[in-house]
Amino acid sequence: MTLLEHDRAADLIARRGVEDLAAADAAWLKSHLSECPECAIYVAAFEQTGQLLRSYTITATSALVTRTQSLVRVRAEQLRERQTRMVLVAVSFCIGVLFSTASAWLWWKAGDSVVRWLGLPESIVAPGVLLFWLLPAIAVAVLMVVVPQTVLTNPLTPSLAREREEEIR
Ligand SMILES: [Zn+2]
Repeated sequence: MTLLEHDRAADLIARRGVEDLAAADAAWLKSHLSECPECAIYVAAFEQTGQLLRSYTITATSALVTRTQSLVRVRAEQLRERQTRMVLVAVSFCIGVLFSTASAWLWWKAGDSVVRWLGLPESIVAPGVLLFWLLPAIAVAVLMVVVPQTVLTNPLTPSLAREREEEIR
């Protein structure tokens, strides 16, 4: 019997109380339990604990209920924010690619004249394409580093939870 098999058995034992196991898993567990006394003892203890817990009536106080509800609401808010941020990241990425392509193309077409007009050495035209290609991406990256912080420091999120707690008192 390997440790991995005992782990799998423990996992299946815990899951079988809350969900339906696949037929293959249930069959494997049954055969494992028939030949593994350690896991058989574990099942007995697990079921005894379950019965013990069910015999207790646990009543949540209204404060606990309200706090849990507000935490769930805050979590939902965070998930929504994360979704919004993902959309922002995707949009920023597309904008970055567009601007990178456009500015690199512009430099490629007009870089020669600009360099001549400014009296700069011709050798910087080629590295200039790279610079103009990367510049919008760097600008977008800087913006993305700054923006999530403002979302996170949004005073609405923690105050939502605090407000609820104060209502209880
Ligand atoms: Zn076992």
